[in-house]
Amino acid sequence: MEDSYRHKGLRRKLIAELRERGIQDEHVLEVMSMLPRHYFLDKAFEEWAYQDKAFPIGKEQTISQPFTVAYQTSLLSLKKGEKVLEIGTGSGYQAAVLALLGAQVYTVERHQALSEKANQLLQALQIPNVHTFYHDGTMGLATHAPFDKILVTAGADEVPLTLISQLKIGGILVVPIGEGGVQQMYKIKRISELEWTEEKFADFRFVPFLKGKA
Ligand code: SAH
Repeated sequence: MEDSYRHKGLRRKLIAELRERGIQDEHVLEVMSMLPRHYFLDKAFEEWAYQDKAFPIGKEQTISQPFTVAYQTSLLSLKKGEKVLEIGTGSGYQAAVLALLGAQVYTVERHQALSEKANQLLQALQIPNVHTFYHDGTMGLATHAPFDKILVTAGADEVPLTLISQLKIGGILVVPIGEGGVQQMYKIKRISELEWTEEKFADFRFVPFLKGKA
């Protein structure tokens, strides 16, 4: 794995594009400017790794578009040391972004091959504090709950109540919700044992949040 001057230059351009598109969280932009996205893509896509696009990672899944990663991560308002559950490890790129922001990351994936590949890569890159699980995210991760933040990187049909129940009071769930292939980004804050608030943001297109392990 090599991070060349060319890669670094392309990455700088991508970060400038994200800023232009409205991403303002400087911590998120800084981490994304440090982390080589091309490590998380197949060699065949390396040339395009710094385009603001999603790409196939196998098992009919995709690495999210950089804009989407930056957008979702910004909505989490992460603080160092927070415990974060990510649903949908995929390539491991989003998990690495969360970890480099100082989070304790628990990330679950329903495809065993993707989970193992991401785990190996994150270890090879010596990204600290990421725990990967081959697990069905519709159940959350009860053994490590409650979480300060939960991030769903697949499109859900409805608000996943199981996930809300695994948030600390004051915790935040960011999840794209919608039917028919388009989802609206929701930010859900748990304000008491049985109450939460919802804020809605822009529309996105995610691969589906599916039930059960693959
Ligand atoms: N965060 C990833 C994006 C992966 S796309 C990245 O940075 O690359 C979404 C991922 O969610 C897919 O890999 C898909 O297999 C996974 N997924 C969908 N439903 C799931 C579920 N119920 N539990 C765990 N993972 C799920």
